[in-house]
Amino acid sequence: MRDNDYQDQREPARAGMEMDSTVVTSASSHIHREINELYGHEQAVRHLGSLLTNLGEKSLYDAVAQCNRCGYCETSCPTYSITGRETISPRGRNQFMRMLVEGRAKNTASAEESLSTCMLCGACSTACYAKVPTADIVLEGRRALKGYGDNFFARAAVGLMLNAQWLFDLWLKLAYLAKRSGLPRLAAKMGLYDFVGMPGLAEAEHAVPKVPLRFAAELLRSDPALKPGGKSSVGWAYFAPCGPNYIFTGVALATVRVLSRFCGEGVFIDNQCCGLMAHNYGRLEDAREFARRNISRYEELKALLGDFPVIADCSSCAAFMKSYEQLFTADPLWRDRARAFSGAVRDILEFITPEQTAAAAGDQAAGGGRVTYHDSCRACHGQGIRREPREILRQLSGSRYVELPESDWCCGGAGAYAFTQPGISKQVLDRKLRNIASVQAETVVAGGTSCLIQINAGLKAAYPSAKAVHYSVFIDEMTRDKKQPDRVPPPASV
Ligand code: SF4
Ligand code: SF4
Repeated sequence: MRDNDYQDQREPARAGMEMDSTVVTSASSHIHREINELYGHEQAVRHLGSLLTNLGEKSLYDAVAQCNRCGYCETSCPTYSITGRETISPRGRNQFMRMLVEGRAKNTASAEESLSTCMLCGACSTACYAKVPTADIVLEGRRALKGYGDNFFARAAVGLMLNAQWLFDLWLKLAYLAKRSGLPRLAAKMGLYDFVGMPGLAEAEHAVPKVPLRFAAELLRSDPALKPGGKSSVGWAYFAPCGPNYIFTGVALATVRVLSRFCGEGVFIDNQCCGLMAHNYGRLEDAREFARRNISRYEELKALLGDFPVIADCSSCAAFMKSYEQLFTADPLWRDRARAFSGAVRDILEFITPEQTAAAAGDQAAGGGRVTYHDSCRACHGQGIRREPREILRQLSGSRYVELPESDWCCGGAGAYAFTQPGISKQVLDRKLRNIASVQAETVVAGGTSCLIQINAGLKAAYPSAKAVHYSVFIDEMTRDKKQPDRVPPPASV
């Protein structure tokens, strides 16, 4: 089905919207049968029980039926703005999903293109008056597609993380050693990744130039000051998301230094992956297992230390952990536990206050280049965080701070999107780079780790005097007492 076919389907869909309530009720049971046919026997493990939307708990069909096709979201959608294609817009994706659920979309190849090109940025839901949760709807659609979530690498990585974490760490270190040897670069140059049909791996090789051989969790686990023993209460618990843990070790250590400097004593929660990767790549039951383990770990610490906030320094992970309840809508016991855990989660972007950093700000604001802020999608659209980081950055940078045009537009990183959809991702990134250049910023502060990878890869090629840094690293640098040695040392390999 191409765009024209989609247009042909729109009138019957509109007619469906105009049915009276009796017809809607009988249509609803028919639709639920269709959903079951679409989802098959795996429905319980592959799909959410319901969606927790801004307008209450909804079935997938009720959530998607809230899209009235007004098109108000269209110009906020990066993929639509770039391609101009209705099927690659929020409205188009919602209508595809409605047709899939109603059993009227027969061409799953077109549906797959429509759903797989969504960046899950959430900009459409921010713009939409009905707050239709398009990203969640798209993920449900992806999980309905045959074979989605069965990718060998996704299964192997998630399986190892769940069942043999040490082996996953070892596997990653061996891959990093190979990367340091230059072999992957050679493979990329020889076109081997294209040959095996995985050109995205060459992009990944370019995007992450430096990799650590000691992960943040290892360093933090061995720090006696971050252990719960001997404490009766703490001001925070640090949750190490996979980006800071496995790639940007310096970010994790900077976050812990900033928390220790401004928020009193804390602990390292010694967590597992939040489950977002498994969730977004179709392995919902694995995502639930990651969530259960993190919730249990939080409860163990809570029994020792009482209430404390759980601080994460990757906005994607923080936003996902705040939505854990949605994973368990069909499981009352875990649903309550997930809600309690989510209520304790805070993004580092919202946790540090200007009052805390005021005394340490000093005269760092003078000198240096311009500083700007990129809103990670899962910070602004996923958690509504916009004001807090700006207040701190203005305080610490003074007149050097400039607003970034279209700061809440996705950078095209979007997890692994840059590797799975390199064409669209590059065009979205170019727009971000033009905006950065337009304000002549030299430092772009962000709170998402895939944003750091994506923006730095683009800046390196197009605007090498500028760089993207994590929010924690920026605060750490700007508030550090240069005469005092750091308790948490800087990482040797980052
Ligand atoms: S998602 Fe919202 S804004 Fe977009 S077309 Fe549907 S109702 Fe309108
Ligand atoms: S989540 Fe982002 S890419 Fe996907 S439809 Fe919405 S605005 Fe477009």
